[in-house]
Amino acid sequence: MFTSVNPATGAEIATYEELKPEEVEAKLQCAADAFARWRTTSPGERAELLSRIAGQYETHKARLARTVTEEMGKTYKSAVAEIEKCIAGFRYYAKRGPAMLEPEKAMLANGRQGETHLLPQGPVLAVMPWNFPFWQTVRFLAPTIMAGNVGLLKHASIVQGCAGLMEEMMAAAGAPEGLFQNLRIKSGAVASIIADERIVAVTLTGSEGAGASVAEVAGRHLKKVVLELGGSDPFIVMPSADINAAIPQAVTARVQNTGQSCICGKRMIVHADIHDDFLKGFTNAMLAVRAGDPMDEATDMGPLSSFEQLDTVLDQLERAKAAGGTLTGGERIGNAGAFISAGVLTGVPWDSEIAREEIFGPVAMVFKAKDADEAIRIANAVPFGLGSSVWTNDEAEKRRFITEIEAGMTAVNQMLASAPEVPFGGIKRSGHGRELGREGLREFANLKTVML
Ligand code: NAP
Repeated sequence: MFTSVNPATGAEIATYEELKPEEVEAKLQCAADAFARWRTTSPGERAELLSRIAGQYETHKARLARTVTEEMGKTYKSAVAEIEKCIAGFRYYAKRGPAMLEPEKAMLANGRQGETHLLPQGPVLAVMPWNFPFWQTVRFLAPTIMAGNVGLLKHASIVQGCAGLMEEMMAAAGAPEGLFQNLRIKSGAVASIIADERIVAVTLTGSEGAGASVAEVAGRHLKKVVLELGGSDPFIVMPSADINAAIPQAVTARVQNTGQSCICGKRMIVHADIHDDFLKGFTNAMLAVRAGDPMDEATDMGPLSSFEQLDTVLDQLERAKAAGGTLTGGERIGNAGAFISAGVLTGVPWDSEIAREEIFGPVAMVFKAKDADEAIRIANAVPFGLGSSVWTNDEAEKRRFITEIEAGMTAVNQMLASAPEVPFGGIKRSGHGRELGREGLREFANLKTVML
């Protein structure tokens, strides 16, 4: 059984039965049958379906958002924003996808013409996390549908209500049976599905451990894998930056989704000349963040997604203090829900073990850097390479940060957010492969070379 628990209250919401092996087998065959038909559809037909799915998300926005809030605790207003982002994602591929599937032409030296065609390959398995339960899945699903592939979802155990709703939206939009199916299975059952010859590839968004185990199985079976893993993004502020603009964005980056976003700034690296001013303004703003009922419009931050997540974060904070850090805020609030206040850690050695970990909760580490060299050294001193945000109005510094920060994404004078138009993904232990943009559509396509 899967049990959904409201992390704001601790109350059980619903239980869902795990699929039996024969039900999993039926879904795999259904996906294979659906692919045989879906691969023959035109880009125009696929675009029409994507538009209809976007319409269903629009119609059911409030219900979808409420389910997100109830199952994983983010504020209702941010859950609405998540659903709106999904709608934009489906519409982006509906509008731009057909042109992306046009064959690319190249004239060969021997005078003949070469072409690259993007052809579908088959059913793709997606293993997804709870932090943006709809958006993470749409990042995979919209390009999958446009590419002519079909999808199977193994969602995080705590958001099975959201997973079921995604399937419902597809059916309501008139998607053919088997185009997208929710597999209510535990993580232990993932390996045999990757191994199944009807599955052509797997994409996972989640932790390093889950990524490594999925990649290992995929490697054994020679299946392509995309990994979107953890991050501990640097947020660098230099003296030429507009500090009054940087501080509120640093706060939003660190507390949005109660700090449970892979690409939020988690390590604030501030030039020595402005460090004290930044720290004062940032700490005051963090302490002013209102944690509480996620359904309340006035709340800035809901609880963490589960009591297990709360224990993990509290343990990390203890280890940060043991490493020499000073914690302001970052305390458990009450006993009923998995609430924690926003907080700031100073004095943690930037090369300590805890500084190299991802803290998936609303507590930022602040480091002082004497110059751009040191800022870059601290930024790169983690095993991750997902996103980064840099604040400077010095053109030479901008160029250095863009080229020298080891990350898949760098945002200049803004906090980083994903967008359907541009690729999303990381390097180092943050994974490999890209979602979104044109690259997201190509990941699971057969890029067939045609000689004419
Ligand atoms: P997680 O424990 O790795 O879970 C993610 C998914 O993987 C869930 O569906 C989980 O199923 C499944 N899973 C776990 N262990 C597995 C295994 N050994 N084999 C197969 N599947 C397995 O991650 P999380 O705690 O839910 O999510 C937080 C992490 O995701 C953070 O590190 C965050 O940075 C990362 N993340 C990355 C991105 C990105 O785009 N780079 C985006 C969002 C989150 P169960 O729930 O049943 O265990």
